[in-house]
Amino acid sequence: MSSAQQVEDTTKNYQLFIDGKWVDAESGKTFSTPNPATGELLAEVAEADKVDIDKAVSAARRAFEGKWSKMSARDRGRLLYKLSQLIDEHSAELAAIETADNGKPIKESLYVDIPQVVENFEYFAGWATKIEGETIPVPGKMFNYTLREPIGVCGQIIPWNFPLLMAAWKLAPALAAGNTVVLKPAEQTPVGAMELAKLIQEAGFPEGVVNVVPGYGETAGAALAGHPGIDKVAFTGSTEVGKLIAKSAADNLTKVSLELGGKAPNIVFADSDLDQAVAGAMMGIFYNQGQVCCAGSRLFVEESVKDEFLSKLSERAERIAVGDPMDKATQMGPQVSEEQLNRIKGYVEIARGEGAAVLVGGESPKLEGAFQKGYFFRPTIFADVNNKMRVAQEEIFGPVVSVISFTDEEDLIKQANDTIYGLSAGIWTQDITRAHRFAKEIKAGVVWINTYNMFNAASPFGGYKQSGYGREMGRHALDLYTQVKSVWVDLSGRPIGWFGN
Ligand code: ADP
Repeated sequence: MSSAQQVEDTTKNYQLFIDGKWVDAESGKTFSTPNPATGELLAEVAEADKVDIDKAVSAARRAFEGKWSKMSARDRGRLLYKLSQLIDEHSAELAAIETADNGKPIKESLYVDIPQVVENFEYFAGWATKIEGETIPVPGKMFNYTLREPIGVCGQIIPWNFPLLMAAWKLAPALAAGNTVVLKPAEQTPVGAMELAKLIQEAGFPEGVVNVVPGYGETAGAALAGHPGIDKVAFTGSTEVGKLIAKSAADNLTKVSLELGGKAPNIVFADSDLDQAVAGAMMGIFYNQGQVCCAGSRLFVEESVKDEFLSKLSERAERIAVGDPMDKATQMGPQVSEEQLNRIKGYVEIARGEGAAVLVGGESPKLEGAFQKGYFFRPTIFADVNNKMRVAQEEIFGPVVSVISFTDEEDLIKQANDTIYGLSAGIWTQDITRAHRFAKEIKAGVVWINTYNMFNAASPFGGYKQSGYGREMGRHALDLYTQVKSVWVDLSGRPIGWFGN
């Protein structure tokens, strides 16, 4: 036996999941996905292209017009609930897969991502039987009511930062409302979605209701977004790609929902509990290696407490444990890919060029052994930033925070709103009047007061301005996946008299 044969091959292999079956891509092509902590190969995955997307869309259409539309709402809900339980039962394995594919600390996968995936399927399982129309009090001898119906075949394109959670945000409401789905995971993190497909199969969803087609954005993603056979496209990702998706959907007037980038202001007033605000600032920018669309990446600090705040923040940022994401003590793992790592490094140069000071970090950490090849970056704080700088206006998507000081509240609100984005915002203050005034004046879809990054399946999430349109989670998500039909019934039994008969 050669030594090569003795080494156990731990690479996972995945096919496409179309029409309830596991199949190779028509082209036979596959792509590889590395473990970002080491750069080593994690999985080899079938690469969907236009022809595979065509197959998946046809399967989803057949399922929509066939078994799925005949299934009762109760049975749909039961399937979703069963899926939530299966995910819960497999949470340890799924968390390990998520961490291996994305790089996020196992503590986050296990205690945040996977439980929220379970929560979302559970929550929307309950909605399946509660999607109702209305009766409208129209005048005369007429009866008018509405039917709330599924939209049809939904193309869903998701990003790599919360791979399984983003799949849950998309799938759960779509399925609860009776739609069928073609889901395209991100090429950087396809593995979790493929494992989820196995559980979807095990739960007993009819074939074709959910199809999972990993592949690249420019090929599989573009083919899905522009497909004339889909009725709706839902996308989470960058604003740049969101615009491409909206444009290609426009050709077929496909309905679109978009959850895009952000450059959230996280604002610290002098009257806040500074230790709490420091912890909130860290949660805002270092969670998930800063790869969060609602990251508090513009940290506005009131001038009078700036020095004290920054010294506390720097000291704590330096202490963040960066390293092996499988270690439960690790607080930050690697960035998802070499491309993202290089992008962040590029912004450090941009910040320096713009005159910002790199207070902490600004480089990769020195790690040992296999992790030397991982895509790690240190928690980084840019001080002396002003809101016009590129590092205050462009989404970096890394553990990099730009600190901007302020003195005047009115001017602060103007600066906080001076961005193309409007996804989220945070404020730290003991003054409730100010907190609520801010919540009203800020142009963002989510506001956190004395907290940050709070989510619940029942609470809507989505953006103002170029952060997208539509709200995911909560009952608002059902608006994205249903359409309203108005039905008129004559109660008089007489002919319409308009033309004089
Ligand atoms: P990021 O820039 O953070 O990698 P993207 O917005 O590029 O995020 O990717 C999010 C998702 O969009 C991924 O599933 C990716 O494959 C997909 N995608 C990228 N480009 C396109 C495109 N032109 N059309 C459709 N989907 C795309």
